[in-house]
Amino acid sequence: MKPYILLTPGPLTTSDTVKQVMMADWCTWDEDYNLHIVEEIRHNLVALATKKPELYTAILLQGSGTYCVEAVLGSAIAPQNRLLILSNGAYGDRMGTIAEYHKLNYDIIEFDEISQVSEVTLEEHLLKNPDITHVAVVHCETTTGVLNPLRKISRVVRKHGRKFIVDAMSSFGGVPMDVEELGIDFMISSANKCIQGVPGFGFIIARKSELLRCKGISPSLSLDIYAQWEAMEKGHGKWRFTSPTHVVRAFKQAMQELADEGGVEARNKRYVENHRILVEGMRSLGFETLLPDDIQSPIITSFLYPKKDFDFKSFYTQLKEKGFVIYPGKISQADTFRIGNIGDVYPKDFDRLIDAIRQTKY
Ligand SMILES: *Cc1c(COP(=O)(O)O)cnc(C)c1O
Repeated sequence: MKPYILLTPGPLTTSDTVKQVMMADWCTWDEDYNLHIVEEIRHNLVALATKKPELYTAILLQGSGTYCVEAVLGSAIAPQNRLLILSNGAYGDRMGTIAEYHKLNYDIIEFDEISQVSEVTLEEHLLKNPDITHVAVVHCETTTGVLNPLRKISRVVRKHGRKFIVDAMSSFGGVPMDVEELGIDFMISSANKCIQGVPGFGFIIARKSELLRCKGISPSLSLDIYAQWEAMEKGHGKWRFTSPTHVVRAFKQAMQELADEGGVEARNKRYVENHRILVEGMRSLGFETLLPDDIQSPIITSFLYPKKDFDFKSFYTQLKEKGFVIYPGKISQADTFRIGNIGDVYPKDFDRLIDAIRQTKY
């Protein structure tokens, strides 16, 4: 059943119990599904996101995380609005691509991939461009593993009274945060990241007052977050179109397992410990990380090739045979590969990984 574990940040390694609950079928018309699975998930997601749940609501949407990012940008940015995207990697750039497709009025500031986005640059740009209405940023840039300074960015966005959109795809559930404290209006994540579900849908935690303004803006039928929310509210958990029932059932189990583990704080501790063992072990073998430790997330780590003629394919294949699947790099300025710390993986798995790498020829 488990030929190898995935050290890739989505899809990732899920528990056997999450996989087992998919061995049944659900009727989308029946309250066993709507009320007891979907509505419970929506309620619990909001509770996970903030201590002020009355101000927020959760929208679940078919597809991968990108569908949700596109749905939010397409539904929240009206023709009279102007969006500012802060990017330091592929996922920030993807928001720019979405803005292009949707012909949004937008600016993008591209920061170096191996540094954090800067709240100072943000503030300068907002002062020069008072017509910017929304600011969007990626929390953990999975391209490299940089954790962006959400608190500092949030302070500037709120000081200037702009709306705040955060792609917390690879951090929500694994890094503690409160959307209300951070002044976030739309937070986006997906089933197959730190909640440790299987892939198939994403979700948006939206400030209710801002979501209500999204009515009629989306140029897309299936990616309209207002319409999706309205159908879920009125139908008490009904999705507008066929919902990924097995995936949703697995997600409910994954949320239960997050609670059983002790919540986001406990999960974060485990990821931090996974990351510590990984980085200490890799450094003891002579590998170097791409990023300095102070901007590195506990989610995914990029390592530089240990030598010019490093054969990643061979390294990858040898590790896969030993039971570990890792990730190639995704940046142009350096030769790197990546190892994820998230999923149903534990410190003992990283001890075993370091042993396996020690026995690998590279
Ligand atoms: C995984 C991820 C996404 C979504 O990617 P999909 O391939 O659509 O699932 C978006 N942003 C970040 C930061 C991610 O890590």
